[in-house]
Amino acid sequence: SKDKKVALVTGGNRGIGYELVKQLALKDFKVILTSRHPETGHEATQELMKSNLDVSFVVMDVDNPESIRQAAIIVKELYGRLDVLINNAGVYLDENKKVVAMDPSILEITMATNFFGAYYCLRSFMPIMEKQGYGRIINVSSEYGALSEMSDPGVGAYKLSKLALNGLTRLVAAEVKGDIKINAVDPGWVSSDMGGPSAPRTPEQAAKSILWLATIGPEGPNGEFFRDGNRIDW
Ligand code: NDP
Repeated sequence: SKDKKVALVTGGNRGIGYELVKQLALKDFKVILTSRHPETGHEATQELMKSNLDVSFVVMDVDNPESIRQAAIIVKELYGRLDVLINNAGVYLDENKKVVAMDPSILEITMATNFFGAYYCLRSFMPIMEKQGYGRIINVSSEYGALSEMSDPGVGAYKLSKLALNGLTRLVAAEVKGDIKINAVDPGWVSSDMGGPSAPRTPEQAAKSILWLATIGPEGPNGEFFRDGNRIDW
């Protein structure tokens, strides 16, 4: 088990993130479930450990760059490597107001979590990948982050955060050295606390539509945006 690949998921305590942790463990990864709250993170980890899955917990609040930096230090010390990073943690706080009229703190918090959270994770975890010359990074984005979505406001903070995340994906893809790939995925409309109960997709289906990117080969895509395995425009 020492040569098992190591994967880390942000916001792994519930929703799509929890399912990503579970499916990565079933694919024989050693998985680090991260959550901003010790209790919810521990609880989720314990639940998966009951099924004998190789999951451990590290606390990490993606709104806090220092918390991310500390988590990266722990990962380096305990595992010595990181093969897969999934930036999944996200918030959807819009209240269907016009962009210019909305409470600016909603825009700030949404950007902090959905965009800067992923950015600081790249800063802290990519050096580990660069050192080993291998890494697969997946940013869980949304089709709401497409430019074509910008003519229809209402959830402006969320859309801007995912547009920026897609841009970040592309910029960083152009910079990586070695066998490192970074891609973004739209999981579809998924039943979770965020997606609500009437969403047509289960977190299981969403996780499947994301995780193929965790094991792509050296000729695989880099800097692209996918839904269900198909490249989509944004
Ligand atoms: P949920 O609301 O069910 O879960 C969100 C997760 O993100 C929770 O684990 C939450 O932790 C975590 N999180 C939020 N803020 C932080 C933070 N500052 N630090 C660490 N963790 C944080 O949402 P989903 O599972 O549905 O969404 C997962 C991803 O998928 C998001 O990026 C979302 O934008 C994206 N997505 C979802 C869609 C859907 O239909 N559901 C559609 C398109 C994209 P906590 O429990 O502590 O709040």
